[in-house]
Amino acid sequence: MILKDSSLLKSRAFVNGAWTDADNGATFDVLNPATGEILASVPDMGAAEARRAIEAANAAWPAWKAKTGKERGAILRNWFNLIMAHQEDLAVLLTAEQGKPLAEARGEIAYGASFIEWFAEEAKRVYGDTIPGHAPDKRIVVVKEPIGVVAAITPWNFPNAMITRKCAPALAVGCPVVVKPAEDTPLSALALAELAVRAGIPAGIFNIVTARHGALVGGELSGNPLVRKLSFTGSTQVGKLLMSQCAATVKKVSLELGGNAPFIVFDDADLDAAVAGAMASKYRNAGQTCVCANRMLVQDGVYDEFARRLAKAVSQLKVGDGLASDANQGPLINAKAVEKVERMLADAVSKGATIVCGGKRHALGRTFFEPTIVTNVTSTMSMAREEIFGPVAPLFRFKTEAEAIAMANDTEFGLAAYFYAGNIARVWRVAEKLEYGMVGINDGIISTEVAPFGGVKESGIGREGSKYGIEDFLEIKYLCLGGI
Ligand code: ADP
Repeated sequence: MILKDSSLLKSRAFVNGAWTDADNGATFDVLNPATGEILASVPDMGAAEARRAIEAANAAWPAWKAKTGKERGAILRNWFNLIMAHQEDLAVLLTAEQGKPLAEARGEIAYGASFIEWFAEEAKRVYGDTIPGHAPDKRIVVVKEPIGVVAAITPWNFPNAMITRKCAPALAVGCPVVVKPAEDTPLSALALAELAVRAGIPAGIFNIVTARHGALVGGELSGNPLVRKLSFTGSTQVGKLLMSQCAATVKKVSLELGGNAPFIVFDDADLDAAVAGAMASKYRNAGQTCVCANRMLVQDGVYDEFARRLAKAVSQLKVGDGLASDANQGPLINAKAVEKVERMLADAVSKGATIVCGGKRHALGRTFFEPTIVTNVTSTMSMAREEIFGPVAPLFRFKTEAEAIAMANDTEFGLAAYFYAGNIARVWRVAEKLEYGMVGINDGIISTEVAPFGGVKESGIGREGSKYGIEDFLEIKYLCLGGI
C-alpha cells in the first residue's frame, strides 16, 4: 500500500488532540484481508482510556457549543475539502484494510464526505419555534441545544462513511464525539482524525479510541453519565446490549442494526432494470452491507427468466484484490464471515435449494468467495431469516402480490426493502404495505446524504443523514415566559 501522503497512516489512537498509546502499551494488528499483510498495529485501549476521552470531550464541549453554526460549518467544510483532496489515499487505505474494490472505496470516501458537506450547511439551520401561549400573560419559545458528549461505535463494512454519518451532524450542532471504530478497520478512522486536525477541529472535540474487542470501551461509552447520546451501527445483538447498558443513565440512542432486505420482482417489472438493481444491491461490497438484498422474491411468471439473466450478469463479476486488480468483488472481511456463508449455504442445500452458480470459496483462497445464486429457497432455510452478509443471492418464488408482501414482512427486521413493478397502483399499494424504513422502488441503490437512512422494528431507532438526522443530536428546551 503506497500513499501519496504517508502521514495519513496512523498507528496511535487520537484522544484530546494528541496521538496516544494504550496505558499498558498493548496493540493489535490490522490486516489486509486480500493478502494477510499487516498494515499497522494500533493501540488496544480499554475503559480507562475511553473515560479520559469522554472527560476531554466534555471539557472541550462549552467552547465548541459557543461557536456559531456558521463557524462550526466553516470548519466542517474545511474537513470536507481535505477529505476530497485526499480521496485517493483514503480510498487506498480503506481498500487495504477492508477489501472492497478501489472504485467502491473511492465512492465511499465521496459518500462519507457528503455527510460532512451536508451538515456543514445545516449547522446554520437549527431552528426553534414559537408557540402561541396558553394564557394571555405567557409566551412560549422552543430552542434546540446540542445534547452533549456523543459516543459513536461503528462497523467495518463502511469504515469511513459510518463515522462521518454520525459525527458530522453531532459536530455541526455543537457536540463533541468519541468514536470507537471497528477493530478490523481502525485506519480509515485515524486518517479522518488527522484531517480533522488539519481542518481546525479543536482538541477534545473529535476523539478516536481503538480497541481489539468492543466490550470494554463499549461498556464505558454506554455507562459513563457524561455521554448523553450513543450512536451505534452494527449487529442487532450488540445493539440490544448497548441499548440495555444505556438504560442505566437514560441515554438517547440511535441504532442502525441488521436488516433482512426483500428484493421483490413482480411479473410486470422491467427485468433488465431489476437485474441491474439486484446486482448493485446484492453484490456491492461483496454483499456486506446492511441494506444488501437478502431475499430475492420473484414472481412465478418471471422467476426462471430473472434467474437466467441474473446468472449471466453474475458470471461477469471479477473477483480479486481490490488494490491490485480491476476486480469488482473483493474478499470477505474475515474467516468468520466465510464460515457463516458456508453454513447458510449448506443448510439451504440440505433442505432442497439448488446452487445455480458459485457456492464455494474462490480459487484465490483466503476469504475470497464466489458470487453465488441459489434457487428454490424457502422460508425454512436460515437464509430466509438471517442476514447473509456475503455474495449470495437466494431466489424465493411467489404467486400473488399478497403472498409477496406477507413474505417480505415476515421478519423481525425492517431496514431496507426493494421492489420492481410497472403498474402504478401496485407500486403505491406495495410501498405502503412494506414494513420498512426505506423502500427502493425500481431502484437498487438508495443511500444518499439528503435522505433519512434508518430502520423500523428490530433494525433500529433514529435516522441518519438529511434534515431529520440532525434532530438525534439535539435536545428541545421549552421556555415559558410569564408575567407579560
Ligand atoms: P459485526 O458482526 O458486523 O462485526 P458488531 O456488532 O460485532 O458487528 O460490531 C460493530 C461494532 O460494535 C464494532 O465496532 C465492534 O467492535 C463493536 N462491538 C462489538 N461488541 C461490542 C460490545 N460488547 N460493546 C460495545 N461495542 C461492541
